[in-house]
Amino acid sequence: MLELSTPVQYVKGVGPRIADILAGKGIRTVGDLLYYLPFRYEDRLNPRGISELRPGEMATVIGEVRNSGLFRTRRMPIFQLTVGQGRTRLRCLWFNATYLQDKFKPGQMIALYGKVEEDQRSRELQIMQPQFEILGDASDGGENGAAEKKAAESLEIGRIVPIYESIGQGRLTPRWFRRAIRTALDNLTPDLPEPVPAVVRARLGLIAPRAALWNVHWPEPGESLQDLQSSRTPAHIRLIFDELFFVELGLELKRRQQKAQTGIAFRLDESVRAAIKKILPFHPTAAQKKVLKEIAADMEKPHPMRRLLQGDVGSGKTIVGFEAAIIAIENGCQVALMAPTEILAQQHYFSARRILENAGYRIVLLTGSLEAERKREIRRHIAQGNAQLVIGTHALLEENVEFARLGLVIVDEQHRFGVMQRLKLMKKSSEVEEDSRASLGPAGSETRPHTGDAHVGTGAFARPAEQSSAADARVAPGRSPSRAESREPGDAERSSAAQRPAAPAEPDVLVMTATPIPRTLALTLYGDLDLSVLDELPPGRTPIVTKCVADNQSPKVWEFVRKQVAAGHQAYVVYPVISENEESELKAAIKMYRELSGHVFADLKVGLLHGRLDADLKDQVMRMFQKGELQILVATTVIEVGVDVPNATVMVIEHAERFGLAQLHQLRGRIGRGAAKSYCVLMTGGKITEEGQRRLDAMVRTNDGFQIAELDLELRGPGEFFGTRQAGLPSFRVANIIRDAQLLEAAKREAAAVLAGPNSEVSSEEISRALVHMRARWQLTYGLVEVG
Ligand code: ADP
Ligand code: MG
Repeated sequence: MLELSTPVQYVKGVGPRIADILAGKGIRTVGDLLYYLPFRYEDRLNPRGISELRPGEMATVIGEVRNSGLFRTRRMPIFQLTVGQGRTRLRCLWFNATYLQDKFKPGQMIALYGKVEEDQRSRELQIMQPQFEILGDASDGGENGAAEKKAAESLEIGRIVPIYESIGQGRLTPRWFRRAIRTALDNLTPDLPEPVPAVVRARLGLIAPRAALWNVHWPEPGESLQDLQSSRTPAHIRLIFDELFFVELGLELKRRQQKAQTGIAFRLDESVRAAIKKILPFHPTAAQKKVLKEIAADMEKPHPMRRLLQGDVGSGKTIVGFEAAIIAIENGCQVALMAPTEILAQQHYFSARRILENAGYRIVLLTGSLEAERKREIRRHIAQGNAQLVIGTHALLEENVEFARLGLVIVDEQHRFGVMQRLKLMKKSSEVEEDSRASLGPAGSETRPHTGDAHVGTGAFARPAEQSSAADARVAPGRSPSRAESREPGDAERSSAAQRPAAPAEPDVLVMTATPIPRTLALTLYGDLDLSVLDELPPGRTPIVTKCVADNQSPKVWEFVRKQVAAGHQAYVVYPVISENEESELKAAIKMYRELSGHVFADLKVGLLHGRLDADLKDQVMRMFQKGELQILVATTVIEVGVDVPNATVMVIEHAERFGLAQLHQLRGRIGRGAAKSYCVLMTGGKITEEGQRRLDAMVRTNDGFQIAELDLELRGPGEFFGTRQAGLPSFRVANIIRDAQLLEAAKREAAAVLAGPNSEVSSEEISRALVHMRARWQLTYGLVEVG
């Protein structure tokens, strides 16, 4: 009998080579295979008669191959296939499909799926580029035995048939998956675990796991095809709900644990308010005031803040972050501000110095590219508590930075970090504590006495120096050395919270993101965070005008750039790659920099910025542009995130069709930051895919980050959307957070209800079963990230 955890090689027909191909798709176990769901279904029980087809509909047709052949037009070869049902015939066409030449033989039965169209001239119906499957052809995979052939046939005709995405360059076909998955189901153990508590199953009407796995692949006769296609059958709902429920359960547990920890109750009195007022370079918007209030209220509470600040590009998150920083600093704590790139970290550093240094705050920048000696020195400042605001990249996370008294962590532009990395960060800041909880049961048992001293300097955000090591404690300012030296690590265990002079427990965390996802979705997806939204742009912004032009129009575009520069403004020109040989057909930033600085704008000051420059140079170029010493900045996407130069009013993006939508929106967010009207010119070269065109159209149509995000989600799918791959995604196998938004909300609700137990609805045994399953799932799916 197969278990879900059995390696996939144990499924009959899966040898080492096939297992390799499957592993490439993340399919390693029987469970993985069974969660490889059909992406659509074909009704081959009631296929359409050719005579009843209507133009415009998507249809499955089963017919007999009559003839086929290749003919050449001036533009491309076209492959034509005629299938028949009795006397009626249907024509199918594939463009550029020489590979189909020897594929079909007259008399074969074939299933076709595609959009029915009417030929302009002949008025006959045809299907362009249909997907197809030659029926009863058992040539892929196994031997050609008659019995096998028959068995194969029974899986592909006369029923609703699951269609899977082929993988391994077409080596594992839909038909292969049908057979392998069927075999796996036939041999699957009858008692699958049921990790979802009964009351939840009842409320949602969930069917049993085993039935769900069967029916999602092999629908019961009579199942609605529409429900199947839209993943709304009971089988789909069960699998999708499971996936979402255990993610939400993890997030909810995390949230409860965080809430139960001892945080810092920051004082927010008149002197702190005055300190904030003093640094503000402008009147905050109503939205900024509102979110600051929410943040401040969290910070005043004795529990750690875990808050997400969401605001579209340019909505003014930075200053809000600084305000929060002042609250912490005025309370004698240190603040860490982390950015996803060095450039952005540097920029924050400059604006922090501009805005905060006059007020006497001590700010340091700590990035990976600093020399070792300099780094050590800065670390010392941090450990001694001299540095009040520490700005850096996520190197702050990885390198062992010890803070004297860390009170607040601000993570900027979190979508670059990825949700999972954020969890890792929070784990770091509460590492030891979590370990000591590992054996604890579910909800309710979380209010054990806080032993903050257990956090002896392991994570990136170690405890106050006097607790981490005697050596650090000696240099900590304002402490009596004798007292510090007398403290052994063992003592720490016994010291009570009262003895510690307002020692920071868990630092507060504020995550700032420009990912504009709908509020309900954000609430559910970032279930471990509270949410604040900056839904207003600072005043005086005029909407950016966006135009899309072909790159043979570039002389006109450069003329326009020149005019803007003559009017005292600055411009970005952005390229998708750094050097030509990366992708030869693209104009590369370096080459175009030569062209623009040497010829087109020979009389202007043009700079070049890309990721391969060393940090000092990057820094220098960025500073020159910021000061207006450069008029035009030729750049790659290194400027995408966060860069803020309000005088820049033009952005030309070459090969705009190559960029993702979120990326284009982020890039465009670099302009339109001042009062002057700004212009974004999307230049395109070469062929543009239909999807590419939709992205460009969306950019021209709207500046609204929410609208753009929604389309982006639709085009790219949620996995791609929520973070870069290296950041580790919460990748869902069967759920789609857009399509399944309601189930996601239900999952969140139910997760909260379960963790509120045990009670008359959920037994403690059910809760621990659910938690055990949840932990296994998180381990498996998210690797290092542990919860609970
Ligand atoms: P983002 O939310 O994208 O990080 P920033 O914090 O970089 O946005 O702010 C964008 C620009 O708007 C900056 O130049 C900033 O100084 C300016 N800004 C922010 N808040 C206000 C405000 N209330 N009034 C005027 N300008 C503001
Ligand atoms: Mg920003």
